[in-house]
Amino acid sequence: MGTEEFNAVVIGAGVAGLYQLIRLRRLGMSVRVLEAGDGVGGTWYWNRYPGCRFDSESWTYGYFFDPDLLDEWHWSEHFAPQPETLRYLNHVADRFDLRRDITFEARVASAHWDDDATRWTVTTTDGHSYRSQFLVTAIGALSTPIMPNIPGVDRFRGESHHTARWPHEPVSFEGKRVGVIGTGATGVQTIQEVAKTAGHLTVFQRNPNWCAPLHNRPITDDEQAQIREDYKQIMERCRQNYGGFVHETDKRNAVDVDEAEREAVFQRLYDSPGFGIWMGNFRDVLVNEESNRLMSDFLARKIRERVQDPDTAERLTPRNHGFGTRRVPLETNYYEVYNQDNVRLVDLRDTPITEITETGVRTTDGLVELDMIVYATGFDAVTGAFDRIDIRGVDGERLTDHWANGPRTYLGLNIPGFPNLFTIVGPHNAATFCNMTRCIEQNVEWISDLLAHMQANGQERVVSTPEAEQAWTDHVFESGEKLLFTKVDSWFMGVNKNLEGRTEKRFVLYAGGAPQYRSRCDEVAEDDYRGFVLQ
Ligand code: FAD
Ligand code: NAP
Repeated sequence: MGTEEFNAVVIGAGVAGLYQLIRLRRLGMSVRVLEAGDGVGGTWYWNRYPGCRFDSESWTYGYFFDPDLLDEWHWSEHFAPQPETLRYLNHVADRFDLRRDITFEARVASAHWDDDATRWTVTTTDGHSYRSQFLVTAIGALSTPIMPNIPGVDRFRGESHHTARWPHEPVSFEGKRVGVIGTGATGVQTIQEVAKTAGHLTVFQRNPNWCAPLHNRPITDDEQAQIREDYKQIMERCRQNYGGFVHETDKRNAVDVDEAEREAVFQRLYDSPGFGIWMGNFRDVLVNEESNRLMSDFLARKIRERVQDPDTAERLTPRNHGFGTRRVPLETNYYEVYNQDNVRLVDLRDTPITEITETGVRTTDGLVELDMIVYATGFDAVTGAFDRIDIRGVDGERLTDHWANGPRTYLGLNIPGFPNLFTIVGPHNAATFCNMTRCIEQNVEWISDLLAHMQANGQERVVSTPEAEQAWTDHVFESGEKLLFTKVDSWFMGVNKNLEGRTEKRFVLYAGGAPQYRSRCDEVAEDDYRGFVLQ
């Protein structure tokens, strides 16, 4: 099989890969995008489970880079369901004629750097290879689904689906005995949907999360017109917010206001749509234990009000972490599901799962017979998709070895020893903890500007220095020191109990916030790409 030559190879055709393709084309480059799936969309292609939708406001999540695109797209709901987002990304692919540069069903197995030739050789699992001067990974932080390490997962003879590998054909729950394992953001969305039609639903919960109401509703034509008019302000608000959302943080500390005022603010946030409760709360809620406890207590009261059975309410209330220190699932009648006769909560902290059998899930309390098991057990987050590609840099150094003690990067975008490689939404990059399209656009534009700078100066090779990597890695660790979420186990902290060697916390995000990240990246560019060697 011959090797095809390109200026750049991009891996992944999600939000990041599609926009990177557009920007590289504008630089006059020949580009090949390699995508494992058979369509565009990434997250929104793979996660077709019932109830999957945004928790970002739809009108803050779409691309902002093209005013015409903004003008012509009408989101139907404030928090659009997955099929609509997939339609949107297909619309973008059509509008910019992107498919001609994308090879689908092409899973990249390896990417090796040849320093003499200044070229990457990228090989797919079916043996095709591609050579390019630049390699951009757009492989997603939440793209590698993980099955639970429970004995017998392969034995079950009924239907079983991981939420991130959901079938393209409709799946019916009508009258069936369904079990859902997992109560993260995905599990919560799935459970509230399955409960509507399942004959019986058993929820297997290991740890509950602090959930808050989504308050979704359709976007009226008037609202759509207003959103179009307001886009400039919306963009600016997203630029200012820590997580790239439209919400504005309350500048006060929760502990400094009196109880009535605090309660009123908590209630207003609880009654408001989206992540205001997380991203627009008092500024100390995610850093001060006492303020965090006040917010958590408020939510615990809400759970008790909404769940009729006090024992179930208690089991749905997190006790091992405070509000917002893990990803906050946004819900629609999630807690009320547990008031239905056809729904039962199994608390795995009391009665752990011992095995999966041919006919169901066995806990220490006995066998729960099921027709269908839904695995909402999450992802090998942030580094998972990197670990599954054999990436080798100068002198054959493996990226997995470079990251053996946790990721190390410069700006979360490049790694010393790995020239001409850029990692959109990579570890230690603000994009992993963001209203993602906002940060993805920043990543892509910054990389594209660097490549334009190289073209203008006749430079062919760029790589960061070990000193720059050390300084950035130190800064990344400092950025998280004050935040309560760094004390808690979750994918934010690189913990995945289903994977060997991943039970200890390691820092995989950048917690300094999107505005600070952006200004650091801009400073580097303005200072002649400080920390990079350009040749
Ligand atoms: P992805 O969309 O994950 O795309 C990566 C692509 O790379 C995939 O198509 C994958 O197949 C491909 N790929 C990976 N490895 C290889 C390989 N070796 N070879 C070839 N192809 C490969 N973020 C928000 O900001 N707001 C939300 O409301 C929101 N909701 C979410 C809901 C769910 C269910 C999930 C899982 C995530 C959600 N996210 C949300 C995060 C979401 O991942 C990002 O918003 C965004 O879609 C990421 O885009 P991406 O292009 O970086 O990665
Ligand atoms: P997740 O947050 O990692 O949750 C996985 C769930 O599975 C947890 O409840 C976990 O329990 C449970 N689990 C894992 N292994 C288990 C085992 N062996 N036995 C029993 N339970 C097990 O994954 P996710 O829910 O897929 O969400 C991942 C991220 O995707 C989110 O944080 C969010 O960023 C994004 N997302 C966003 C939306 C949205 O609203 N737009 C929706 C879905 C996902 P423990 O907590 O005990 O480990």
